[in-house]
Amino acid sequence: MTMKKIARSFGVLAAAAGLVALSNPAYAAGDVYKGTGWRILSGRGIQSLSPEPYVIKIVKPNAAATKLTAAQTKKAEAKLRAQLKDTAAQLTSITGTKFTVAGGYHPEQKACTTTPRHTITVGLKYRPFKPGNKPGFSQAFPCTANSNKSAWGGWVWVDSEYWKPGDWSLHPTLISNLVSHEVGHSIGLDHPNVDGSDANNTADPYECVTNRYKDTPVMCSPNGGHARGRGGTDARADKYAGQYTKWDIAGLKALKANFSR
Ligand SMILES: [Zn+2]
Repeated sequence: MTMKKIARSFGVLAAAAGLVALSNPAYAAGDVYKGTGWRILSGRGIQSLSPEPYVIKIVKPNAAATKLTAAQTKKAEAKLRAQLKDTAAQLTSITGTKFTVAGGYHPEQKACTTTPRHTITVGLKYRPFKPGNKPGFSQAFPCTANSNKSAWGGWVWVDSEYWKPGDWSLHPTLISNLVSHEVGHSIGLDHPNVDGSDANNTADPYECVTNRYKDTPVMCSPNGGHARGRGGTDARADKYAGQYTKWDIAGLKALKANFSR
C-alpha cells in the first residue's frame, strides 16, 4: 500500500476556550488513564465518560466546503451515517452509556462554549485539518465538562476528499475505521502510540501494539484498526470494518469506570 492510500486521522488540536483544562488536570485518585493499547485524553482534560446519553448529529454538507459533486455527497453521507450508527451501537454496548445518531441535519459546531452538552456533531469538509489543511487528515475537537472532567461532546470533521477520485480516495473499510477513530477522540480517547521495536524514544506513526493479523488499536495514529493492506487479511479487515479492537474496548471501559460523580 502506498502512503497515498492510507487514511490519516489526527485530532484534538482545538482551541477550546473555556471548557478544556489544558494543563494540570486534577487527576482523581484511583482513576486509570492508560493501559496496553489505549490512552485517555487526560492531557486535554478529559478523564471520564458520563453515564448520561450522548447524541451524534450530522451537519448538512455544503458543496463549497466539501468540493464534492452531488453524487459524491450522497455516497459520502450514506457512508457516514451508516458508520456512525454502527459506531454508536458499539459504544452503547461497550460502555453502557447510550449513543444515538440523530436524523436530519444539524448546525455545525465551532466552539466548546457553544456546543450543546453530550452532542457530537460530525460533518464533511475538504482538508479540514488545522493547522495546515493537511491532505488526507480528518480531525476531532473534543470538549470537557469543567464540573467533573467528563467528556462534554464536541465535533468531528471528516475529510471529504476520501470520496473524490484521486490520491486520497479511500477504501470503505479505512473510512469506517477512521470514523470510529475520530468519534473515539471526541469522547476522550487519545492515540495509544508507544515507542516500539525501533526504540528511538519516540512514539512514531503506526507504532502501536499489534497482533498476528497486524491489527492495531482503532485509535492508533494514523490508520488504526483491523489491518487492511498491511500484511493482514483484507477479507478479515473488511469484516471488522470500523469495529473497536480489544485494546480500544479496554480504554472505553476505563473511561466509563473513571466516572464517579
Ligand atoms: Zn487521531
